[in-house]
Amino acid sequence: MVNISLPDGVNLCIIYITTMKKILYISLFCAIFYFSWFFAGSPDILSWQKISIIKNAKNFIASVFFADSTTTEALKEHYSAVEKTKSKIKLLIVAGHDDESGGAEFRGVKEAKINLDLALNLAEFFKSNDKFEVTLVRDKNGYNPIFLNYFDKERESIKEFSKKQKETMSELVRAGDVFSVEGVIHNSAPAETALKLYGINKWANENNIDIVLHIHFNDDPTRNRKRQEEGKYSGFAIYVPEAQYSNARASRAVAEPIFSQLAKFYPVSNFIQEQDGIVEDQKLIAIGAHNTLDPVGMLIEYGYIYESQFTNDKIRKSVIKELAFQTYIGSVSFFENNQKKLLAYDTLLLPHKWEETLQKGVKNNESILALQTALNFEKLYPPEGFNKHDCPITGNFGHCTSLALKKFQKKYGINDEAGEMGKLTKNKLNEMYSF
Ligand SMILES: [Zn+2]
Repeated sequence: MVNISLPDGVNLCIIYITTMKKILYISLFCAIFYFSWFFAGSPDILSWQKISIIKNAKNFIASVFFADSTTTEALKEHYSAVEKTKSKIKLLIVAGHDDESGGAEFRGVKEAKINLDLALNLAEFFKSNDKFEVTLVRDKNGYNPIFLNYFDKERESIKEFSKKQKETMSELVRAGDVFSVEGVIHNSAPAETALKLYGINKWANENNIDIVLHIHFNDDPTRNRKRQEEGKYSGFAIYVPEAQYSNARASRAVAEPIFSQLAKFYPVSNFIQEQDGIVEDQKLIAIGAHNTLDPVGMLIEYGYIYESQFTNDKIRKSVIKELAFQTYIGSVSFFENNQKKLLAYDTLLLPHKWEETLQKGVKNNESILALQTALNFEKLYPPEGFNKHDCPITGNFGHCTSLALKKFQKKYGINDEAGEMGKLTKNKLNEMYSF
């Protein structure tokens, strides 16, 4: 290489040009990076923008337009007077979807079916408590005849009801009395489903229902359905009416203890717009879109349909029953601050008698469900450094269970079984959790 020395002025000029080039390249790079990111539709960023818009909108709400149609005080009074008045707390349980529109589906597991299983279990728990009166919209035989009849006979009046409510809402939004709030984007319900959902709301209003509970399992819309791949989200979320609606305050108050109870054992959805666990929504018909529902309403998404504990036939029954039980005790604790202990543990998975030793690799096993729950009670599951998404209660003995067992063994001075459930560990667990 030949070294050419240049006069100072020229040198400076070259430095200047080089610097300008660098700035140009950097700007160009930034611009390309920004736009490619933006147009790829990075969901997190777009969601955050939406969330901040929602929060800003709320700050401008000076007053709530709709007067409360139900209150926590009235509900609690009603509950404590049941024995005297013989008027029970009326609960309407809606198993989401039906045979025609099955909702989410994963490797042969249909949402409508597991929604129904959960609803039936939940109804049984409430029926065992004589303070509640339960109505199911759908059961093993299909739609409850009361509702079939209602959808049929009241078809026109349901249409009129939803039309009127929508018009009123639009006027209020136009006048600035009510703010339109964008939330999570949902699939819009087919016309026939929408009619049924508005019909359920209208019926609930007319029949003095106190609480309407919709049961669903979630799905990740971005997963590859054709290849039956699992999605990237997991965990539960409870949708409640947006804050301006007449049933919003009481609905949130009832949802909170249910949320706390579920959150003891299950992860809160890691879909960014559901990360608060209790999610306000203005557009879901089920919980009173256009202010169509007077009583407390909520829609629980119990988890994502592809999560392994829901897809496996062997343990699904226990998992679903347990979810129903947690919902039941959460609901009752809204009404009773000092809830009588229903069972020795606030789970159906304990007590448990472990009959066999268990090793890493065993899957879909009831005894492992109980083991993970016991370790959860010991505050060792999920193990340190992991969360409930990394280590859910699945009935599968993998890395998470093994790590938690090691801690359990250390805690109780068991030396030889290093993360497996050998005889000594089994005996200790039975000593502590089998009665
Ligand atoms: Zn659903």
